[in-house]
Order: sequence, then C-alpha cells, then structure tokens
Amino acid sequence: MLRVLGLLIGSISMSCAFQLPTSTQRIAAPIRVRAVTPLLATKVEKTDAEWKEILRPEQFNVLRKEGTERPFTSPLNDVKEDGTFRCAGCASPLFTTATKFESGSGWPSFYDPIDAEAVDLTVDYKLVMPRTEVTCKSCGGHLGHVFDDGPKPTGKRYCLNGVAMNFILDTEDPALANSVMERNTGGERINMPLMSVLPGVALDAAVAVLFISSFISKNGSDGLALFAGDGFEIGQLLELGPLAIGAYYAARASQKIAIFATKSE
Ligand SMILES: [Zn+2]
Repeated sequence: MLRVLGLLIGSISMSCAFQLPTSTQRIAAPIRVRAVTPLLATKVEKTDAEWKEILRPEQFNVLRKEGTERPFTSPLNDVKEDGTFRCAGCASPLFTTATKFESGSGWPSFYDPIDAEAVDLTVDYKLVMPRTEVTCKSCGGHLGHVFDDGPKPTGKRYCLNGVAMNFILDTEDPALANSVMERNTGGERINMPLMSVLPGVALDAAVAVLFISSFISKNGSDGLALFAGDGFEIGQLLELGPLAIGAYYAARASQKIAIFATKSE
C-alpha cells in the first residue's frame, strides 16, 4: 500500500511527460512575424473562427483548445541563440533565451518569463493533481504548465508548447530585444497561485502522518526507547524506516510552505 502511494507520488511529479500527445501534428518551422512591438502587451480578444483564420490547426489546438504538442517535435527545443519567444497568437513577448534551459522533457523549458505582464498562472484540474497552467496574459492562449523542479534562481520549470510560440533573434529585431530588456530589468516577481501549492503540501503531510502513525502503532508511543535497552540489533534499526520516511515527507511539506511564503512576499 505504501509502495503504491510512493509510485503515485512519483508519477505525479513526472509532470509534462504525463500529458497525452495530440493527434498527428505537422512539424513546421516557427513563423517569424515582423510587427511593431508594444512595450507592454495589450489585450487581444477574438472568436474561435477569427483565431482559426490566423493560426495553423496545430497552433489553434494548443493555444485555444489547451492541447499538447508531441514531445521532441518543436524546432524551438534546440534554440540557443539570443532572442525572444513570442506568443504565436498575438505576438506578445513571453520568454527570452536567457532563461531557457535543457530540461530533457522534450518541450521548450524556461525558468522565468520576461515579467509578470507576460503570462498568467492559473490552476488546472485536468489530471488528478492540480497543475499550474501558463497562459499568455495578452490573448489568454494556452502555453503549457509550470512546475517546481526547475533550476535556480526561481526553481520553476515553465514547460511550454513550442507550437504556441515564435522565436525572433535579437539581431533580427533589435527594437524588440531592447523593449524586452527594459521590461526584464523591472524585476517584478511572479506569484504562484495558492491552490497550486496547497494540494502538494496536503499530500506530503498526509504521507508523513501515515508513516509516523504506522511507526507509533507498531512500536508504541515510546518507539524511540528501542535504542535505550542493551539488546539493540540491526533489525531494530530497520523498524525506524517508517519514522524516517514520515520525517522526510513532513520536511518536504514545510519546505513547500517556506518556498511559497518567500515567493509571495
Ligand atoms: Zn498571446
């Protein structure tokens, strides 16, 4: 039972790889859009019919229908040159190569968006455990999800669909590069929705209680007295296993609360 629970937790944390691929998707080169770029994105609203006119079917499926592209299919996975990743729907600048990293997930991954004006974060309940959905703040287009296993300094992994973005080299559009750099120096922090943190904390706390109570029920409330007697054996050390696992999950829960409290300041 405990092993099953461990497997469940492990598979939930696998995150992106959990998503089902969509039907046949054509791998197309990213469209390079040249347009006058506003410093901050303005709100873009269109009907599905209007979106279908300007988006390719695979882009419409991801951006407007929250689809997921097949992993390892996006040409944006390999981008290393300096530049800006813009929303394929409304051209709003979202991420830069400066925060891109190789996550091994098969989807373009970043540890931070340009600023808090670039994306919105909301909780998505499509899978058993809630995940934090990333959408374009300007047009509301679905981009992907954000997870807590990214690199420093944010510890976040923005796992995005390449088909939902276009890449513009800095050398190709210096004006865009400059406006993005100005926004980037604003230093505004992105706060995670509380609901994206609480279920994980609750699950860790529940596992901690399960293991600690199993230890107590087996050894009595004075379980640590195991070490007090003269007849201490290796076998007794193994009995401490549930207590160690319980302590580990209790520490994980409190660490998540601490990280959330720091980010929300
Ligand atoms: Zn957009």
